[in-house]
Amino acid sequence: MSAAPPESHGVSRERAPERRIALFGGTFDPIHIGHLAVASAAERRFHLDEIHFIPAGRPPHKHRPGMASFADRYAMTSIACADHPRFVPSLAEAGAGQSGRDIFYSVDTVRHFKQKHHGTGAHFYFLLGADSFLRIATWKDYETLLGLCDFIVVSRPGFNVDSLRLVIPPELFARRGAPHAPLDPRAISLRRTVVYVLDTVSSHVSATEVRDRMDRNDSIHGIVPPRVEEYINKKALYRR
Ligand code: ATP
Repeated sequence: MSAAPPESHGVSRERAPERRIALFGGTFDPIHIGHLAVASAAERRFHLDEIHFIPAGRPPHKHRPGMASFADRYAMTSIACADHPRFVPSLAEAGAGQSGRDIFYSVDTVRHFKQKHHGTGAHFYFLLGADSFLRIATWKDYETLLGLCDFIVVSRPGFNVDSLRLVIPPELFARRGAPHAPLDPRAISLRRTVVYVLDTVSSHVSATEVRDRMDRNDSIHGIVPPRVEEYINKKALYRR
């Protein structure tokens, strides 16, 4: 059964019995300040103990020619997480020999984390932007995935969070008055889990913009963390 976010029950962090762990997957090509803003906002609102940033090995939906190597995307993710005590870079989708050549599906990654923490009382959230959630019906076994853990969907300019319900199959919705119904009126109760909406973040930054600026020889200062900027420049990433 799912737990509501702490503030909706008025439960303080100290009294919360379980570790709250968010899984934040992405291509991270490269990681940028939008990703960090999303993770920080979720950390605060849901009192998260750990946020695992999981660069995709070979992203099933976003593979493109000229993508930075897995090693570079993971390195940049690690650098960006370094100053944040609760941000953890993850090799969960690194694949054989950490080559980043294998395709991983979120449903399997969530199962992997849940198995690893089995019996510890950890509570899992899947963190993602509204653009990703609106495409969830294209993900492997997405109906199963929606029942594995709670979701935190973060608003993103240009995407309507009011339409999140439309991509969820009707049979997955909880019956009215279900015991785990969250107090947050914007949260969507599913049969076993809850989809929370976090609309306090509004970052226009995207990895596409970072790559486009590099391509045009424009500065990326301020839209990626300073050490990630340094890494991109040292390694001449995203230059033609
Ligand atoms: P690209 O521009 O290459 O498509 P991206 O900026 O969307 O990349 P990803 O690594 O694909 O970055 O995103 C990982 C996750 O972070 C996704 O769930 C995405 O929706 C979310 N995300 C990325 N940028 C933002 C943002 N500015 N606001 C909210 N969510 C975001």
